[in-house]
Amino acid sequence: KVALVWLRRDIRLFDHAALYHALKECDQVIPVFVFDTAILDTLPRADRRVEFIHASLRALKSELQRADSDLVIRHADAVTAIPTLAAEFSVSAVYTNRDYEPHAIQRDKKVATALRQQGIALHTFKDQVIFEQDEIITQSGTMYSVFTPYKRAWLTQLNDFYLRSYPIKRYLHRLARLAAQPFPSLQELHFEPAGLADLSIQPGVIGGETLFENFKQRIERYHLTRDFPSIKGPSYLSVHLRFGTVSIRELAAYAWHQGSRGAQTWLTELIWREFYQQVLWHRPEVEHHAFKRNYDALAFPNDKTLFTAWCQGQTGYPIVDAAMRQLNQTGYMHNRLRMIAASFLVKDLLVDWRWGERYFAEQLIDYDLASNNGGWQWAAGTGCDAQPYFRIFNPVTQSTKFDSDGKFIRRYCPELSALQGNKIHTPWLADPATLNAAGITLGKDYPSPVVDHADQRHQALALFKR
Ligand code: FAD
Repeated sequence: KVALVWLRRDIRLFDHAALYHALKECDQVIPVFVFDTAILDTLPRADRRVEFIHASLRALKSELQRADSDLVIRHADAVTAIPTLAAEFSVSAVYTNRDYEPHAIQRDKKVATALRQQGIALHTFKDQVIFEQDEIITQSGTMYSVFTPYKRAWLTQLNDFYLRSYPIKRYLHRLARLAAQPFPSLQELHFEPAGLADLSIQPGVIGGETLFENFKQRIERYHLTRDFPSIKGPSYLSVHLRFGTVSIRELAAYAWHQGSRGAQTWLTELIWREFYQQVLWHRPEVEHHAFKRNYDALAFPNDKTLFTAWCQGQTGYPIVDAAMRQLNQTGYMHNRLRMIAASFLVKDLLVDWRWGERYFAEQLIDYDLASNNGGWQWAAGTGCDAQPYFRIFNPVTQSTKFDSDGKFIRRYCPELSALQGNKIHTPWLADPATLNAAGITLGKDYPSPVVDHADQRHQALALFKR
């Protein structure tokens, strides 16, 4: 029996559900990856994610070659490429891991239909989460739309069975011996390098492993450090979780068994990821609509100038600007800052959360539809388990609390670096002599605030109340 293993957001050869089942059940297994034009054609020509995937696949290919096999790559629409490959290699089955995004579900349905017409089965597996779809539901059989009871049920249901790694090594000899396969360059895929190397992001399994080993030294303090963007508190593993260059089972198992306060808090974050995955699976319409549908009626003024100022990190609120510049320069934004920046766009600038969601989707290297949508709807107060709309982040309070000495602001807004003390959070409150001494002319070197928080707060409350 010969089979294809179709890799997507699972670019690794260890602890891999679809690969394990294929190797166990078949005599020969051919690993394939499709650079799907249905996705790639919508992206800008320099995209950090494409570069990350490309580099991760290069490493995977070398690993396969060391195992006397290779990686088959196509650059085409996956809906036609997979059935074509299946025919080309005369396989009797295709194995792949499930993806819960609405467009992926549709794509996979089409692929399954086309394969069926050729008499070939598509076998799909749970891999990227510990619990999927409706594995965690309420006693009355409905989805959880509030996080805390979901988390309680998730932890109650957890046991070693769900955390066990797939033992793949012993079956690797069943990888097909293939003639050397071509590996397309970024240029051949019509992309340019996006500067990944300058961002100290190490792709591939090695990158994920290095980060995780480093994080293990810090995990015990995670609950104390995670909220401060100038401290190396979080794991920075999100991009690896997104593309499957780490295994969720290994990460969750480590956190669960380690058991410290920090590890428990980190496990809670991994559960948030699964919470939003199941929200998207149960309620795919959240991709375009508020989870609480009546919030679709919010009449946001959507001022384009304010939106542009936010995108460019030029709002005059240093913590928001530093956050947006971190995103633009590195493709990453610290979680605390994602909450601050999102709240500011919706509640201070009165711009539709979907505009911000789209901008994050374009910029984030760890962009994930479920988590991004969940995070934005949470911040906007339109989502499940949202903070109530009348609880509005004060950007200055957030700044003084989570970047008290302004270290993070100074890194991304160097034009403010000579401001001393609290004025780093509120340059518009500094007297002219102080600004002068710091070499800053407001409106020239750094913007005056584009809105007044107190005024906008009232407007937001009125808008949401209406
Ligand atoms: P760590 O603190 O080390 O957390 C470990 C992992 O847990 C993360 O890698 C991530 O997979 C998961 N996680 C942590 N926090 C959350 C959360 N609030 N929701 C869901 N999963 C979480 N995360 C994404 O992976 N992709 C996104 O597109 C994304 N967009 C977001 C947009 C907004 C407005 C907000 C408020 C949050 C968003 N998040 C998103 C969640 C979170 O900010 C990032 O996962 C986190 O900052 C990634 O950094 P880390 O890997 O160092 O996280």
